[in-house]
Amino acid sequence: AVEVHGVHKWYGAHHVLDGIDLTIRPGEVTVILGPSGSGKSTLLRVINHLEKPEAGHVSVGGEPIGVRRHGKGLKELSERAILAQRSRIGFVFQNFNLFPHLTALDNVAAAPVATGRLSRGAARELARELLDRVGLGDRAGAYPRQLSGGQQQRVAIARALALRPGVILFDEPTSALDPELVGEVLSVIKDLAAGGTTLVIVTHEIGFAREVADRIVFLDGGRVVEQGPPAQVLDNPSHPRTRDFLSKVL
Ligand code: ATP
Ligand code: MG
Repeated sequence: AVEVHGVHKWYGAHHVLDGIDLTIRPGEVTVILGPSGSGKSTLLRVINHLEKPEAGHVSVGGEPIGVRRHGKGLKELSERAILAQRSRIGFVFQNFNLFPHLTALDNVAAAPVATGRLSRGAARELARELLDRVGLGDRAGAYPRQLSGGQQQRVAIARALALRPGVILFDEPTSALDPELVGEVLSVIKDLAAGGTTLVIVTHEIGFAREVADRIVFLDGGRVVEQGPPAQVLDNPSHPRTRDFLSKVL
């Protein structure tokens, strides 16, 4: 499970996350919707400790993120320990962020080797399986520049899976893609959802959200304004901010 308790984040005087509470159960698929600037990316970045919240805390799989218990209080983890935690949380970015000098196969195999979890041979074997799973078994030797955006994003998803994360966070995984490539990436994410992987997805693809989400969380001004199953939040929103947002994107 992912638990977010009383999280506040400021950038200077700008209160970007204003008391976020969220519990995501294992296997649950949560879609985060909200207008630009509402704090969606910041929330994902706080969950994997790319940003440190000024107040509140996050835990993943029962483990506090970025801190450890110390007597009655909390102590900040070392950079190394934070990296180890982050490696158990998958993150898929809008712009793929693949290593340009590595093949698709080595992009996927790199992290399990670097973290010492698998031998090079075992990592490459796993990478082949994962590339097959995202429909790219025949492109293992290609470099990112030789792949379409949709293919690159599928490699990025395989790379996230290679660390067998407890949860995968997606920040607008299809918004940098040409429209005809969006479907192939969404279809891979749907397969993961059906397979019981815990997913937190920021997206503006409302049709996809309706299909895949167990729960939709609507964020506005750094607060959770409304949350619930798609049928409730999308078809029968109770908050005027949600209605206003949906009227613009639907
Ligand atoms: P979008 O839909 O445009 O991606 P978002 O909901 O993901 O928006 P965030 O990226 O989380 O929004 O940003 C929330 C607010 O925090 C914005 O007003 C943004 O300008 C501000 N912000 C984000 N990162 C920083 C930073 N590193 N320094 C200062 N302000 C920041
Ligand atoms: Mg964002």
